Amino acid sequence: MVNGRRHHVASLGLVDPPSSARWLIDATPDLPSQLSTLDTYAPRSTPIVSGVFLTHGHIGHYAGLIHFGREVMGTSIIPVYAMPRMQHFLEHNAPWELLVRLRNVEIHPMSDGLPVVLNERLTVVPIVVPHRDEYTETVGFSIRGPKKRALYIPDIDKWEKWSTSIESQIAVHDLAWIDGTFFAESDLPNRRMAEVPHPFMVESISRLGHLSTSERAKVRFIHLNHSNDALDAESDASKLIRSKGFAVASEGDIAPLE
Ligand SMILES: [Zn+2]
Ligand SMILES: [Zn+2]
Repeated sequence: MVNGRRHHVASLGLVDPPSSARWLIDATPDLPSQLSTLDTYAPRSTPIVSGVFLTHGHIGHYAGLIHFGREVMGTSIIPVYAMPRMQHFLEHNAPWELLVRLRNVEIHPMSDGLPVVLNERLTVVPIVVPHRDEYTETVGFSIRGPKKRALYIPDIDKWEKWSTSIESQIAVHDLAWIDGTFFAESDLPNRRMAEVPHPFMVESISRLGHLSTSERAKVRFIHLNHSNDALDAESDASKLIRSKGFAVASEGDIAPLE
C-alpha cells in the first residue's frame, strides 16, 4: 500500500503485486499525478485502476473522478465503490451522472461494515464515521492484506462523536492513518473552527497519549490542511508529535500488508 500526499490531497494507492492490480482510495483533484506515482509501484495497464473507493462527498475525496470522463481519460466501467448516499449523489448530479450514464465508471454499492473482497489477498471494509454529511455519509476504511491491516480515517468530526473508540480500532490494525487536518484551534484564525470540526492533532495526541509505545507508533496523521505547521518536519508541531511517539504520513510512504 502506498500512502498519498503530504502536499497534495490525501489519497492511498492499494497495490496487489501478484496480479499487478491497483486501486485508489479516494479520488482527489490530484488524481493524475497520484496515478503517475502509483506507476512506480504497479505498472500502468488497462484498466488504469481496478477500482476506486470513496470515503465521502467532499471535493478533496471524489472530484478526481472527473478525470475518468470522456474529455480526459475516457475510461470504461471503472468500479467506484460508494456508500448509498454517495451513490445517489453521483447518479443524480452533473457532471458525475454523465460518468455513470456513459459507463466511464460503474458504481458498486457498499454497506457499513460489509467487507468488499477484492481477491483472496485483499479486503476493504467501510466504517461509517461522524462528519459534516451535507451530501453523503462518510466512511473510513479497514484495508486488510494477507498479514496486516491498515486503517484509514481522513475525516471525522471528533473522536468523541463516534460510537466506536479509535483506540479499539487502532488495536485491531497494524497501522492507522487518521485525521490530522488541523494541529490546533489556532490553525484557522479567520474561520470558526466549529464550522469545520476535526479532532485537532493536539487533542488526538492527548487522547491517545496513554496508549503503549507500540500502539502510538501505529498512528500516522494524514490529510493535513495547508495551514498545519506539522507539514514542516522541523516545526515545533512536528517535534511535539514525534516526541509523543506519533508520526505524520509522508508522500510516498509504503506500508506492506503481507
Ligand atoms: Zn470531509
Ligand atoms: Zn477531507
